[in-house]
Amino acid sequence: MKYTPVQNYINGKFVAASTTATLDVISPLDGTLLSTVPMSASADLDAAVASAKKAFPSWSKTPIKERVQVFFKYKFLLEKHLEELAQLGSEENGKTYGESVAEIEKCIELTEFATSLPQLVTGEVLEVSRGVECRTEHIAIGVVASIVPFNFPSMVPTWTMPNAIALGNCMIMKPSEKVPLSCGRLAELLKEAGLPDGVFNIVHGDVEIVNAICDHPGIEAVSFVGSTKVAKLVYQRATANLKRCLALGGAKNHLMVLPDAIPGMTAQNVAASMSGCAGQRCMAASAMIGVGNIDHIIDKICDEARKIIPGQNLGAVINKVSQERIERYITEAEQQGAKILVDGRNIKVTGKENGTYVGPTVIDYVTSQMSVATEEIFGPVISIMRTNTVDEALAIENANPYGNAASVFTQNGGMARYIIDRASAGMIGVNVGVPVPREPFSFGGWNESKFGVGDITGKSSIEFWTKLKKTTTKWNAEAGVNWMS
Ligand code: NAD
Repeated sequence: MKYTPVQNYINGKFVAASTTATLDVISPLDGTLLSTVPMSASADLDAAVASAKKAFPSWSKTPIKERVQVFFKYKFLLEKHLEELAQLGSEENGKTYGESVAEIEKCIELTEFATSLPQLVTGEVLEVSRGVECRTEHIAIGVVASIVPFNFPSMVPTWTMPNAIALGNCMIMKPSEKVPLSCGRLAELLKEAGLPDGVFNIVHGDVEIVNAICDHPGIEAVSFVGSTKVAKLVYQRATANLKRCLALGGAKNHLMVLPDAIPGMTAQNVAASMSGCAGQRCMAASAMIGVGNIDHIIDKICDEARKIIPGQNLGAVINKVSQERIERYITEAEQQGAKILVDGRNIKVTGKENGTYVGPTVIDYVTSQMSVATEEIFGPVISIMRTNTVDEALAIENANPYGNAASVFTQNGGMARYIIDRASAGMIGVNVGVPVPREPFSFGGWNESKFGVGDITGKSSIEFWTKLKKTTTKWNAEAGVNWMS
């Protein structure tokens, strides 16, 4: 085993879980056993909540300008340890080292945003009538929890942790049991940056711990990022327990390609969007709708896809179950009459025979009823449908229950605007394959890609991680007596 067994992180220390049950942590790159992760029980969550509760009065009363000093130092530590963190993320998740570097760079950007929060949470004040003043303040809500998926071991935890903590909350993080290592390293760097013990805690596990988080009376708010199936369960359970909840789910992102799109640039974007992080991004292009004759662009997409080599510039998918699921989708599409233009099935990477790789796959002549057209595949696969008009393309996009992202490739600004106005997705790209908003703009989808109000990052996250205190004061007799007295 390459690393020591993963432990929970409670009150500033790594501690053993109360149970003996563990799961293996296997590198998708080559099947190496990296570590084991404990399947914690509710007693472990109780300990983490108690430590966070104890830390909350002092941390929440620390002025925000002091609190963000931790994140200035943390940002420099992320930069200092970028290569090591990227290496670890690549090992446990299977993405390429370059993709993992980009992930840590995004963590740095998210942390920079958290350091700017004092500028954004100043509240408001107004003299509402003579001598009477109303003011608002953003107040921390208490102990909060963040439940995260496997596909970005550092970045998704960093969507929530710096903002929630800089705003004065204390947090319990529940990493994915498939990629539990990076989060522990982030906790060590937070401590080195000066974060007081108990403000950030990690409890590992799976369903049992997620349910315990939703039920725990000491936790005020729950954020979740993962599949739609689990997002719904978590949202229903947490809100049934009267907690604030924001739950981001899965995706089926459509790219609409018009005949006037710039062929080379479009092909590069489509290929990069569908294959980046082995297609395991909630912002990945999964379905492409060609409007009119775009054969010349599809030829170029295939050329680009053939340049993507598993084990070189394409990472592995998370495990064998995923690999088999993705290959099953491709086979099903083939059996239903679609044409596999580039086939990523049955890939073995020399020297990494135990790695779980799927090559880039381009499927043409997909119809809107096929499972590859409607379901999230979460692999490096693009399903191409064809329509005669933009309205038919929009009807396909609109009919899908998800609504994370959509993109259009065209040189016609009016047509792009038409599509922006009608696509039913929270994040839209124009000539951009992966339209992730960068800070300070918020990240969040629509429809079955998100349950709850607001977005998870950027300015929108301030509303989720704080409650507003509204104070009305009368300063002098001049105000007299009126209906407000
Ligand atoms: P997942 O839903 O299987 O797991 C997410 C978290 O929930 C993990 O921590 C896991 O331990 C826990 N969990 C799993 N099953 C559970 C259950 N039945 N009850 C309670 N908790 C459970 O997701 P994943 O496979 O880790 O990640 C991939 C999914 O996440 C994809 O669908 C992807 O689109 C989505 N995702 C969405 C976004 C977004 O911003 N919308 C971002 C990243 C990933």
